[in-house]
Amino acid sequence: MKYDYVIVGSGFFGAICAYELNKLKKKVLVLEKRNHIGGNAYTSDCAGVQVHQYGAHIFHTNDTSIWNYVNDLVPFNRFTNSPLAMHKGKLFNLPFNMNTFHQLWGVTKPEEAKAKIKEQRAEMEGREPKNLEEQAISLVGRDMYETLIKGYTEKQWGCAATELPAFIIRRLPVRFTYDNNYFSDRYQGIPIGGYTKMFEKLLEGIEVQLNTDYLLNKKNYDELAESVIYTGPIDAYFNYELGALDYRSLAFEHEKIDKENYQGNAVINYTEREVPYTRIIEHKHFDPIDCPHTIISKEYPKDWVLGDEPYYPVNDDKNMELFKRYRKKSKLEKNVWFGGRLAEYKYYDMHQVIRSAFNLVEKIANTDTREVKE
Ligand code: FAD
Ligand code: UDP
Repeated sequence: MKYDYVIVGSGFFGAICAYELNKLKKKVLVLEKRNHIGGNAYTSDCAGVQVHQYGAHIFHTNDTSIWNYVNDLVPFNRFTNSPLAMHKGKLFNLPFNMNTFHQLWGVTKPEEAKAKIKEQRAEMEGREPKNLEEQAISLVGRDMYETLIKGYTEKQWGCAATELPAFIIRRLPVRFTYDNNYFSDRYQGIPIGGYTKMFEKLLEGIEVQLNTDYLLNKKNYDELAESVIYTGPIDAYFNYELGALDYRSLAFEHEKIDKENYQGNAVINYTEREVPYTRIIEHKHFDPIDCPHTIISKEYPKDWVLGDEPYYPVNDDKNMELFKRYRKKSKLEKNVWFGGRLAEYKYYDMHQVIRSAFNLVEKIANTDTREVKE
């Protein structure tokens, strides 16, 4: 065998596994079907601006060891994500905090905001929220739901908010302080000079084949290594034999504008259903540089069809049932390990993917893989 591991995918899961296994003197080959490394966190230099090609990526974590680990790879800046939401020409602060409550209701004190939410939550009659709509109303009330959540959510996910799991809206903090920080984690930032630098560091000295789809030549690649680490979609691995899982896809429209500053903030969400995009990102605010132009990206949600990029897993009951059946099959695959947002079909953030990759490496590194699986 030429390699100990063939790793399919050079996103966070694949790149961290490659780096850690390389440190353990394992021989690794990374296959990547795109023409670049980094998965969805990939950034590229466009006229001096670092562009997040697959949407805004802000690194945040509460885990000191993960924060130190990524900072040892590359220096990070102190960017704090404070997005705004535009609704019918009016701007609101996010996440839901005293600024937002003031902008919506004119209240200025936390107890006034709490009273307003309590009044609006009454329609839930003490019921446990069973879906995203009910969860949103019970967290922030119907006015906020109708203004900032319903339209955004339904265009983002392509279905009614009543059909979506409640956990999706619990990603956003609700605060009774004037604090516009989108995340409550202790650490937050963006690698200076872009994420791709971090991936170059992770994959330094490791053989990487770009423009290479493992599934098109699976048998040959399997013969090259003792084990495979697969980070692509789990249903694609099994050629969709139990049916396709649902994903949400996105289209990005990038534009260079001859203005120093276009929107004054890195992220502005558009919460009305009628506006076809969900957000506009202005990249230079993530990693500030002084230049007379700027680059913006509009993010359009779209239905996923075979061949599209599968950006978000749709973790509703129907898809989770199907995923469990694929996961059961994956456990029977000899010497193949599945990990990452697509192979675990999980709405992971970057720090969570890193933790999951650490767990896998720890599990497999010094053991006979067959033994571990059983
Ligand atoms: P990916 O990054 O998807 O990498 C998988 C790689 O495998 C890809 O490069 C793919 O081309 C390759 N691949 C797949 N199949 C094959 C095959 N058959 N052969 C060869 N290669 C293959 N997280 C945060 O923490 N903060 C954020 O602000 C944030 N914003 C996000 C915004 C958007 C729009 C999206 C979609 C995600 C965001 N995330 C964010 C999540 C973050 O992107 C993921 O957690 C992380 O990138 C997942 O890493 P991964 O390695 O699991 O998957
Ligand atoms: N959301 C919303 N309005 C907003 C921002 C977010 O309704 O202005 C909802 C929407 O359902 C979204 C979810 O909150 O899918 C999670 O938002 P987050 O910003 O975490 O999404 P991501 O960056 O992962 O796309």
